Amino acid sequence: MDITLVPGFNPGPYTGAGNNTYVISGMVQTLLDAATGEAAHLAALAEALGSTVLAQVLVTHAHPDHADGCDPIAERWPDAAFRKLPWPEQDRLQSVECMPIADGDRIAVGDGTLQVVHTPGHAPDHLCFFDESTGTLFSADLVVSGSSVVIPASRGGSLAQYLGSLRRVLALAPARMLPAHGQTIDDPAAILNQYLEHRKLREDQIVAAMRAGDRLPDAIVGRIYEGLDPRLKGMALESIVAHLIKLREEGRARSDPDEGAWELM
Ligand SMILES: [Zn+2]
Repeated sequence: MDITLVPGFNPGPYTGAGNNTYVISGMVQTLLDAATGEAAHLAALAEALGSTVLAQVLVTHAHPDHADGCDPIAERWPDAAFRKLPWPEQDRLQSVECMPIADGDRIAVGDGTLQVVHTPGHAPDHLCFFDESTGTLFSADLVVSGSSVVIPASRGGSLAQYLGSLRRVLALAPARMLPAHGQTIDDPAAILNQYLEHRKLREDQIVAAMRAGDRLPDAIVGRIYEGLDPRLKGMALESIVAHLIKLREEGRARSDPDEGAWELM
C-alpha cells in the first residue's frame, strides 16, 4: 500500500501532537480519517493528492478530532464518498451523509483492499482497518504509543468491550499499526499486551482504593492519579467510572445512583 501520513495540525491536551490521517494512493484515492478541518490539514491533503481526485474518506469513529473535518473536506472535494459505521446520535453533528460500513466488509482502497474490524470500547462505532496483504492495521484510537486510551463511560465507552477489542486485534497479529495519534507501532503484540496489563493493574488499584474506604470516583482519581494535569481530570474520572461499571457488570461492585457512591460486593 502506498501510504502518506497527513497530519491534522490540531495539537491539544486530548490529541497530543494532533491527529494522524493517511492518504492511501492508487486506483481508489482514499483518506483515512478527516481530522478537524484545519486549513493546514486541507492544504497538506491537497498536496498529498496532487492532481488526483479524492474518491473516498473512511472515518474510524465519530469523535470530533476524527470527524469534524468531514464537512470542510466534502466542500472542497464534493465527489468524495464518506464511509463509517453508523452512530446516529453523533453522526448527526456532521452534515455530510456517510455510507454505512460494518464489521467484516472489504473495501477497495488505493490499489488494495482493507478489511473493516469493529473494535468498540473507546467509542461504540470505533473501527480499525486491516490490510491482510502487508499485515498493516490502521488502529485509530485503539492504542496510543506512550499513553493510554480514554474510555468515556458516559458517552458510549465500554471497558469490557474495549478489552475484547484489544484481544481481537492481538489475535489478528498485525505486523504494524498506524494509529490516529503518535508514532507508528512496529511491535503491536507488545503494546497490546501492555495495555491489557495496564488495565488489569488499574482495576487492582481501584479495588485497593475501595478497600481503603474510597466510595466516590473523585476520591479514587485523587488517590490513583497523582500530579494529574487538571485539564485531564474529567477524562480520568471517566476512566475510573468505566472500570467501576465493568466491576458492576461482573457482579463485583454496586453503585448508589443517588449519592454517586460505589462499593465492593
Ligand atoms: Zn476518539
